[in-house]
Amino acid sequence: MKNAMFAALAALFALASPLAAQESAMPPDEPKWSIAIHGGAGTLDPDRMTAERRAEYEAALQEALDAGAAVLADGGSAVDAVKAAIIPMENSPLFNAGKGAVFTWEGRNELDASIMDGRDRSAGAVTGVTTIRNPILLADAVRSESEHVFLMGKGAESFAATQGIETAPPEYFATESRREALERMKARELSALDVDHKFGTVGAVALDSQGNLAAGTSTGGMTGKRWGRIGDAPVIGAGTYADNRSCAVSATGWGEYFIRVGVAQEICSRLRFVESEAFAAMMADGDATGPAELDDDLRTEMQQRVADAVMAEVKQLGGDGGVILVTPEGNALYSFNTTGMYRGRANSEGLSEVAIFGGEAEAGASNTPDH
Ligand code: ASP
Repeated sequence: MKNAMFAALAALFALASPLAAQESAMPPDEPKWSIAIHGGAGTLDPDRMTAERRAEYEAALQEALDAGAAVLADGGSAVDAVKAAIIPMENSPLFNAGKGAVFTWEGRNELDASIMDGRDRSAGAVTGVTTIRNPILLADAVRSESEHVFLMGKGAESFAATQGIETAPPEYFATESRREALERMKARELSALDVDHKFGTVGAVALDSQGNLAAGTSTGGMTGKRWGRIGDAPVIGAGTYADNRSCAVSATGWGEYFIRVGVAQEICSRLRFVESEAFAAMMADGDATGPAELDDDLRTEMQQRVADAVMAEVKQLGGDGGVILVTPEGNALYSFNTTGMYRGRANSEGLSEVAIFGGEAEAGASNTPDH
């Protein structure tokens, strides 16, 4: 049965969903929401993290998760929930986003962020901003208040001024530990990956009670980045993607590989495709009358396999990192090929959990570290 489903995929690849299919498939009388967050993935070793440090990270993740969940529990939108979850992580020096961002080779903090609304696939992104307190808010203003998708540097900051977006002096973003990481890197002539294998980018994905999906990601990039290097986080389709027909994804990891694979959009496209095929196969077997009758466990397994398959491609090319995703049914899944990923998820059924290392707590997470 499963083989039949996967075998006929090619025949259905050209199947175009009508635009109306982007509307929610959720019945309106069942308010259901779901959210997942991440605070970066990397080589995280439980033996080298003190209990205090761990508690600090868990508290920061829980605060972000609670902020996003509160918006959704109140009937708020997925886009608002994503922003609400990301802002506390941008404000926390623990993560590589907003305050606490890594340093460029020249000793600056240059910030990237993006956000996407799965309802209409409107998207906004900014790169290389140095004075925006919460880059995710500027990305969302680009999405909702401009006719553009992607703005850079000074131009993005000029646009921010027209929108009354809060600024901060460049020094606000600087932290001692990130400066030391840059110095270590320069002194030992290490690459960004050698010195800073705990990426620390932040992201959130959400399904709201209207059945809409959204995703957002915010980062300082990678330590010692130079020559105007831009990673995947602000690139729509690489670090962030949302489409009500399939899923919302936020990524973290070695950005160059995520751009090359087009990770976030690739996961969403494959899910859309597999879902269509699964439906068709079941129809052919005569045991379903519509997509809603697809077995929940089978659907979840397929979704996890799709995310894992795309992450396996990243690994095959030599990259590492992870993704979080939420689907229209409210499944919140993780897939990462590092030893850990700061993460959490919550839903309207009472789930609320945060985790750091691979194999912790949750079902529905896949972790295949290679170191
Ligand atoms: N993906 C980010 C970048 O390459 C880094 C990270 O995830 O921390 O810029």
